[in-house]
Amino acid sequence: MAIWNLGSINVDIVFSVPHILEPGETLSSTGREIFLGGKGANMSVAAARAAARVNHIGAVGKDGEWAADRLLEYGVDTRNIAVLDTDTAQAIIMVDPHGENAIVLHPGANVEIPQTVLQTAMAEAQTGDWLVLQNETNLQRTAASMGKQMGLNVAYAAAPFDPDRVMAVLPYLDFLILNAVEAEQLREATGQSPDDLPVRDVIVTLGADGADWYGTSGKQHFDAIKVEPVDTTGAGDTFTGYVLAGLDRGMTMEQSIEQATKASALMVTRHGTADVIPDLSEVLAFQS
Ligand code: ATP
Repeated sequence: MAIWNLGSINVDIVFSVPHILEPGETLSSTGREIFLGGKGANMSVAAARAAARVNHIGAVGKDGEWAADRLLEYGVDTRNIAVLDTDTAQAIIMVDPHGENAIVLHPGANVEIPQTVLQTAMAEAQTGDWLVLQNETNLQRTAASMGKQMGLNVAYAAAPFDPDRVMAVLPYLDFLILNAVEAEQLREATGQSPDDLPVRDVIVTLGADGADWYGTSGKQHFDAIKVEPVDTTGAGDTFTGYVLAGLDRGMTMEQSIEQATKASALMVTRHGTADVIPDLSEVLAFQS
């Protein structure tokens, strides 16, 4: 089967700074690095590294063609990434010596994905494939209803959290993944907790405390693996990509979550995002 990921592609520009800027302040950085980023791109890379067939659906500007090329290098099918006459999405990230950060996000091409790009991709999708959505692009609701109608498994990572967007796609979902903060935001916004949502499988990730899966036979907890974390960025995206890849490759939910738990534990021991997501051979060799 295959995974179709309607997802963001960002250029992450990371400035090392002595402290996070105050209003009105000008500050020189002590370093600058540029990475491929965006929740969508991270999930595509994670699922491809977990040996799934991944097709990314999205858009960049001419300044971001390298980012699509990078996805291709990581084994993602990039034929449905449009190159538009607009800016590629950028995240300007300041990181202080304590690892605290502040981020400005310019959504750019991520929110201008043409509907024709989605339609062209979906014309190739087959019943039983997975359609994956997050909240950093346009067209989620259109894609979710299209996916449902075509008999795809529709998965949604509700981040960054937006109650209206969650409610708009909820009727079409087979799979929903939230972190603990998003699960609380959902409860506050709608009064609904993970176990009473009308979705087949709901996963709530709990950082170093692991993850809870709410499925047809109730709630099951999975402990995280004890590691010394150095950078937790991208842990959630790695987890989601690995779970979906496992399911797409015919593994059970338990097996998929166990593999995702290993992959994301390895991920938090590394600095960086998409470029350092572990591949399946590293995950299989990882002894917890
Ligand atoms: P992020 O936004 O940082 O990508 P998230 O908030 O979406 O992450 P988390 O719940 O923090 O997601 O983490 C996802 C999974 O990663 C957890 O369920 C767990 O398996 C693993 N993980 C996260 N932090 C740690 C940690 N400190 N040690 C071991 N595993 C971790």
